[in-house]
Amino acid sequence: MLINVKNLHKSFGDLEVLRGVDLEVPKGNVVAIIGPSGSGKTTFLRCLNALEMPNAGQYEFHDGFKMDFSKTPKTEEILKLRRKSGMVFQSYNLFPHKTAIENVMEGPVIVQKLKKSEVRTKAEDLLKKVGLEEKMHLYPHQLSGGQQQRVGIARALAIQPELMLFDEPTSALDPELVGEVLSVMKELAREGQTMVVVTHELKFAEDVADHVMFIDGGVVVEQGPPKEILKAPKEARTKQFLDRVLNPS
Ligand code: ADP
Ligand code: MG
Repeated sequence: MLINVKNLHKSFGDLEVLRGVDLEVPKGNVVAIIGPSGSGKTTFLRCLNALEMPNAGQYEFHDGFKMDFSKTPKTEEILKLRRKSGMVFQSYNLFPHKTAIENVMEGPVIVQKLKKSEVRTKAEDLLKKVGLEEKMHLYPHQLSGGQQQRVGIARALAIQPELMLFDEPTSALDPELVGEVLSVMKELAREGQTMVVVTHELKFAEDVADHVMFIDGGVVVEQGPPKEILKAPKEARTKQFLDRVLNPS
């Protein structure tokens, strides 16, 4: 296992958003998380990156790094956890006043305190990898949504995270731009990058994920291999959700 998450709880005031979520991810696996809007998917991903602090639960990495959220974590633990995972956001979250390559260099320079000269070649390689060799010096507003999201992926990869987290990375894109982002993600999966992906792209989940988790109301309703969960779900709630995604009208 690369990570093992146990009994994760998160509340915002009186609202209990995550009510005991468990997840194990073997190294090199892709986990797809599906579920209705408001079910806690984003909150769960943000907890895995310590962008939200869970109220309870444990999070363990294969190297023995462990966090127990029933105690207040130390700042150095939070920073260590953040360096282990790269997050790709639904709305890209690029710095608007920085070029593509400056966005990619930001993490290694600011977080890892590396020199710009050391980081530049690696950032160029990452932008080549996501097919943006020609666009390195453009600002986000000069790029299409699909290009911006590919910069977002390169930026998340720049700290060489053990785990990549994707929060509905294609849901803000025009339909014709979805494919270019999914194919970058497919390539990462093929290279053995461990990934947790919140997505409504069921075809992607079926083709690329090793494991699918259906979450509703802050609990895991069912999880298992994509063929089982997407094609032969046991739970009525899962069936109903899949039906709505496949037949929106
Ligand atoms: P999903 O990504 O599955 O749509 P979210 O994790 O974004 O769901 O949200 C789950 C619930 O938590 C929603 O009811 C949402 O309003 C609430 N929520 C999320 N973030 C916050 C926050 N920072 N403060 C208060 N409520 C929040
Ligand atoms: Mg969400």
